[in-house]
Amino acid sequence: MKYVVALDQGTTSSRAVVFDEHGGIAAAYNLEFTQHYPHLGWVEHRPEDILDSQLRALKLAVDKAGIDVADIAAIGITNQRETTLLWERETGRPLANAIVWQCRRTAPLVERLKADGLGALLRDRTGLVPDAYFSGTKLQWLLDTIPGARARAERGELCFGTVDSFLVWNLCKNHPHVTDATNAARTMLFDIHRQCWDPELLRAMNIPASLMPEVVDSSHVVGMLRRNILGREIPVAALAGDQHAALFGQGCLLPGDCKNTYGTGCFVLMNTGDAPVRSQNDLLTTIAWRLDGKPVYALEGSVFMGGAAVQWLRDEMGLIRTAAESEAVARSVPDNGGAFFVPAFTGLGAPHWDMYSRGTIVGLTRGTGRAHIVRAALEAIAYQSADVIRAMSADAGARAETLRVDGGASANNFLMQFQSDILNIDVLRPQVIETTALGAAMLAGRAVGLWTDRDIAALPQSDRRFQPRMDAERRDALLHQWQRAIARSRDWAREG
Ligand code: ADP
Repeated sequence: MKYVVALDQGTTSSRAVVFDEHGGIAAAYNLEFTQHYPHLGWVEHRPEDILDSQLRALKLAVDKAGIDVADIAAIGITNQRETTLLWERETGRPLANAIVWQCRRTAPLVERLKADGLGALLRDRTGLVPDAYFSGTKLQWLLDTIPGARARAERGELCFGTVDSFLVWNLCKNHPHVTDATNAARTMLFDIHRQCWDPELLRAMNIPASLMPEVVDSSHVVGMLRRNILGREIPVAALAGDQHAALFGQGCLLPGDCKNTYGTGCFVLMNTGDAPVRSQNDLLTTIAWRLDGKPVYALEGSVFMGGAAVQWLRDEMGLIRTAAESEAVARSVPDNGGAFFVPAFTGLGAPHWDMYSRGTIVGLTRGTGRAHIVRAALEAIAYQSADVIRAMSADAGARAETLRVDGGASANNFLMQFQSDILNIDVLRPQVIETTALGAAMLAGRAVGLWTDRDIAALPQSDRRFQPRMDAERRDALLHQWQRAIARSRDWAREG
């Protein structure tokens, strides 16, 4: 039996998953690490924590699987995206903590880019909307604030990287300085059409080109794991951002294929094939993956409050004891009793885009009870996701045939059935819910010839299919009410 190990370096934990050659999980290990919040709105990770936790998770997962290291055919890396690191080329010493994607410190730099009229160019070249979330201004900030850093960068003494880059540099023999096209596509510095770092954007953010890693395919041997880690050199054969790996791991290999990850927020990605689709709804255009030099594109949209709304019911309202209990509570009533919950705690994202929306519950009557509110919260996760998916289908000019799902809240059968009802399409939940890790493993196994494209298409196996059962009249009535509820939540936080 051969194995592929996926390293899943996430925002709160580092995970390693050992897959056998049938795509089954032989062992997994997870290690959390500390989040640092040095100022309001700032988020950092210690680079040493990222590296140590990932290395330990790798060793412990391989130990737990009890396999011979010689049988590991390849290692694939998938990672939290956009998080920005800067280190010395000579010694590997990081110059600062990693600036995490959530960190808002560079919002003023983004405002300056917009004021300089770069918004449209940035949108055209990178497929992104200008935001502090992406790596570009984070790197600019590091170069602006670390004394001497820009001069050193100009002399070629420093390396920039996202987490994939940083891991490869540290884990592989001879320190390759690379990133893959999916991670590059989240920097706000990469031209997704021409597949290169964009000189104008580098200049606009005052970033010397010598800092930038070489951009490689997502399924590609980038280096050999150093022998002292597992006692043997092993090819590191895949790099992909977490959402991109999940799309691959869900088997969304054809244009129109679409997945939604139901975690704290929800992340929807749709494969749009070899043509980048420009969104009319401010969705992001991104690279799904790059294989054999050819990029496949995707549209991406997210819901800010997904499972977090359930957490809020549990932790702040005390309406449920566990997130899982929400399913039985929602089912204890035949419908929402007319109550609609818009969890716009931090505003609304695509396709509504209103940063002044706030959380709203409408339609309360004397008969509304706890179960109706819980049900309305779960329904809201499905409505918000449906709004993103509809906008995506309109942009891509193709209706999603099925929706593949993963993430913590996809375990909720009520939610999945309601999602299917409200979208009027089948919802498919895979057997291996670790789709991010599976995707990284599939990309790596492909690169070393363990799996052909045909094997890969057969790897993700569905556990359960939810089929729409709601009649059209009822669906239309509910969607109409949802849109009215959205309208009520709008503009609340605007001054005056
Ligand atoms: P993340 O990776 O964003 O931390 P996870 O994929 O681990 O998220 O999912 C956790 C989220 O899913 C939490 O917000 C939690 O409230 C929600 N959740 C977990 N299980 C359920 C469930 N059975 N029903 C509804 N929501 C759930």
